[in-house]
Amino acid sequence: MEAIVLNKLDPNFKYEIAAQPGGEGFKLCFSCGTCTATCPVAEIDEDYNPRRIIRQALLGMRQQVLSSRSIWLCAQCFACSVRCPQGVNFRDIIGVLRQMAVKEGYAPPETVKDIKQIDTLSQRIRHELIRYYFEEREKFEQLKGMVEEELEITPEEVEK
Ligand code: SF4
Ligand code: SF4
Repeated sequence: MEAIVLNKLDPNFKYEIAAQPGGEGFKLCFSCGTCTATCPVAEIDEDYNPRRIIRQALLGMRQQVLSSRSIWLCAQCFACSVRCPQGVNFRDIIGVLRQMAVKEGYAPPETVKDIKQIDTLSQRIRHELIRYYFEEREKFEQLKGMVEEELEITPEEVEK
């Protein structure tokens, strides 16, 4: 984890997040880690940790949080929000952090555009895999094999 530089902490950061629509429950986090244990992205990327992002934001690590690639990794699936015992709604907090990152110049418009394209592409791949699975099993196996090969995904990872 990145070192905490005390004179760079922004005590207002948490209040700004909590004041945004979707950020209301932010300060209720008691760091239980359920969000991280539930998250499908954290399962495949050990550097991605929703609980840590919230801790950093609560501490006021504005620059570290808003400039981090982590806030763009969330797949917006809602699993963490459903399981959070404190009703923190991390999915929407990620949305707040992304808006702040854009507004404060940490994420240039090209990055936002590229990430939107990645989201569309991911949805399209998922849609085609499911469609082929039911309608054209041979094409499903082909596409699945191509994706697995290109991304070096092992059968064990898929079967988890
Ligand atoms: S599940 Fe909720 S309370 Fe627990 S660490 Fe995540 S956001 Fe905080
Ligand atoms: S909404 Fe984002 S952080 Fe929450 S479980 Fe889904 S991918 Fe993980």
